[in-house]
Amino acid sequence: MKNEPREIGYLTYDVLKEKIGLPSKERLAKGPVAIIECTEDIPCDPCVEACKLGAISKESLITPPTIDYEKCTGCTLCVDVCPGLAIFVINVNYKEEKALVSIPYEMLPVPERREKVDTLDRSGKKIGEGEIIKVRRGKRETFVVSVAVDKNLATEARSIKIQKEENE
Ligand code: SF4
Ligand code: SF4
Repeated sequence: MKNEPREIGYLTYDVLKEKIGLPSKERLAKGPVAIIECTEDIPCDPCVEACKLGAISKESLITPPTIDYEKCTGCTLCVDVCPGLAIFVINVNYKEEKALVSIPYEMLPVPERREKVDTLDRSGKKIGEGEIIKVRRGKRETFVVSVAVDKNLATEARSIKIQKEENE
């Protein structure tokens, strides 16, 4: 397959669409929903345990998880338990022109509420700027950082970078 993740080092939107199936426009319009960008056969399942609504399942321990988008409420509880940092929650209806993307974050310093940050795509390239709306400390020292981004970046913004002070 073109843009094979193992060759380029990250998943592309097209590969995700084919491998995991993404929420429909109608489901996205209903509000926040988790996107599980985990496509490898690995023995791992904290995401299944974390979801008390039973939205995430695995056929066996090593098969990739699947999610029932209709059961998911976008609570983000699965985001910080994933050791692969592979789960994101997107809300395309956050504001008229902004979407909210909740991202697992393990770097220091941890960004603060209202801070302006760069937003990066899955390859690590800067694609825009965002504002931190919420920061939640998870159970395993992983933070869940919710950043407001331009609506058209909701399916691409997957990381953030703290902006340097002007005098640094
Ligand atoms: S965001 Fe919440 S409801 Fe949705 S899959 Fe994760 S834990 Fe379940
Ligand atoms: S916890 Fe993360 S890495 Fe493990 S199976 Fe779930 S999504 Fe994949």
